Amino acid sequence: MCPFGRSLINGDGGLLSRGRLVCHVLLVELDGALALVDTGFGTGDVDSPRQLGPPFVLMTQPQLTRAETAIEQVRALGFDPPDVRHIILTHLDVDHAGGLPDFPDAEVHVFEPELAVMQHPPLSQRPRYTMGSAHFKHGPQWRAHAAGGDAWFGFESIRVLPGSDEVALVPLQGHTLGHTGVAVRRDSGWLLHCGDAYFHRGEVQTPPQRPVGLEIFQTLMQADGGARHRNQERLRELARSHGDEVELICSHDPVTLEAAQRAT
Ligand SMILES: [Zn+2]
Repeated sequence: MCPFGRSLINGDGGLLSRGRLVCHVLLVELDGALALVDTGFGTGDVDSPRQLGPPFVLMTQPQLTRAETAIEQVRALGFDPPDVRHIILTHLDVDHAGGLPDFPDAEVHVFEPELAVMQHPPLSQRPRYTMGSAHFKHGPQWRAHAAGGDAWFGFESIRVLPGSDEVALVPLQGHTLGHTGVAVRRDSGWLLHCGDAYFHRGEVQTPPQRPVGLEIFQTLMQADGGARHRNQERLRELARSHGDEVELICSHDPVTLEAAQRAT
């Protein structure tokens, strides 16, 4: 997404040049299957950007290319898209769930309150979920996971894959009412995909650093500001106390994505 006002969004460059926000998606290899954490935009969005909703397109200026969709990147890595059996979503906004129709047979794991709000949105949240309706028309194979999981570094974690503790939801509400992080266990420690719990890597540093445009955007988009700020503070505490055991990433920071791409 390339909205104008780069210095306000990325913290560098000029005010009149375009900013850059990415959709950081994970592909996880499991025993005999693949899982995606978020999908980014899908091929249907590339063919018909209008289905993202004109206000969203105007505000975020998405540059949609087929090669960047999850399904094409799965193919480019030499995998077969139907082997993506699980999709674990941080939340249901269009830039996170847009690729769902490209994987119609996958089980789609979400934190239960997010699905409940999408299916019966309160008035204040209705525009957000109406905007994404094209991504749910095919009837995703929803698997909603309720609260009540295990303790994980002072957070709650909810296992989503039967017989595996490699992937877990870590609820981080605020951006949406059912927003969740997704923890993935690797050989080198945990990776916590924080979705839109924060937007810029500086926000989980102490003291936090955040480009002003991103803070305004997050405030405009938040469903529960108190919860969002509390969870950002908890993430800063996690980074301070367990930064050697847990790596934090968020969805939209291009510097974090590029570092991850270089490392793999
Ligand atoms: Zn987002």
